[in-house]
Amino acid sequence: MTSLTGKTALVTGGSRGIGRAIALKLAQAGAQVLVHFSASPKDADEVVEQIIRAGGRATAVGADLGAPDGPHKLAAAVRKVVGDRLDVLVNNAGVSYAATIEDQTIEDFDKQFAVNVRGPFFLVQQLLPILGKGSSVVFVSSLAARSAVGNLSAYAATKGATDTLVKHFAAALGSRDIRVNAIAPGVVETEMSKFAKTDEGRQFTLGMQALQHVAQPDDIAGAVLFLASQDAGWVNGTTLAVDGGSKL
Ligand code: NAP
Repeated sequence: MTSLTGKTALVTGGSRGIGRAIALKLAQAGAQVLVHFSASPKDADEVVEQIIRAGGRATAVGADLGAPDGPHKLAAAVRKVVGDRLDVLVNNAGVSYAATIEDQTIEDFDKQFAVNVRGPFFLVQQLLPILGKGSSVVFVSSLAARSAVGNLSAYAATKGATDTLVKHFAAALGSRDIRVNAIAPGVVETEMSKFAKTDEGRQFTLGMQALQHVAQPDDIAGAVLFLASQDAGWVNGTTLAVDGGSKL
C-alpha cells in the first residue's frame, strides 16, 4: 500500500464532499492531515475525530479562501501546526454556481474565481517556504474544463485556469523538486452536484460516462493519494481525468 508515513498534508475543503474523502485517504496512508474548513467547522471536527479514532494525526484549520487574505491566514495557521515542512498540499476547496450566460451575475462570477483560482494561487505562494524537496501539490480541476456540461461556463473557466496554473507552477517549481498536478473529476455525488441524486441527474450523468455508476467521493480520493505519493514521482504538470470515462 502507498505510504505517506511521516508526511504532512493540507487538504483545503477537507470538511466535506470530495475533500473529506481525500483527507481520510491520506490519513489512512499515514500522513498527518490538516483538515481545512470555511463555513463547516463541525464537519471538519468530525473528520479530525474519525482520523484520530483510527490512530492517525489530524487538526482542523479554518479560513475563508474567498477573502483576499484567506490564503495568508491559512498558511499562518498551517505553519503553527506543522512548523517548517509541508509535504502535500491538496487545493480542493471550491464553489460552483450554475447559470446561463444571460443569467450569470458578476458577484457569482467573481466569487468562483476568488475561491477556485485566486485562493489556491496565493495559498501555494504563501506555503512555498515550507514546501520542501519531494513535496506534491494537487489541484482539483473538473471535466467541465474540457467539456461543455451544464450551465457552468464561468465555473468551467475557473477550472481551465486551474489546468493552466498546474503547467506554469510545475515548470516554475520543478527545480525545487516540487511536483504540481491536478485531478479532473466528472460528476461526483456531493452537495455541489446534488442534482446527481435525482433520477434526471442520474440519467444525465450515466449518459455521458463509460462506467455505469454515479461517482462517490471515495472514487476520487485514490487518484489524489497516487499523485501525492512517490509512486507518481515522475508525474508532473498534468491533469489526470478521474471520471469513469466521461465524454469520451
Ligand atoms: P462540496 O461538497 O460543495 O464541498 C466544497 C468544499 O469547499 C467544502 O469543504 C467547503 O468548506 C469548501 N469551501 C467552499 N467555499 C469555501 C471558501 N470560501 N473558503 C474555503 N473553503 C470553501 O464540493 P465537492 O463536490 O466536494 O467539490 C470539491 C472540489 O471538487 C471542488 O474544487 C469542485 O470544483 C471539484 N469538483 C467537483 C465535482 C462534483 O461533481 N462534485 C466535479 C468536478 C470537480 P466549508 O463547508 O467548510 O465552507
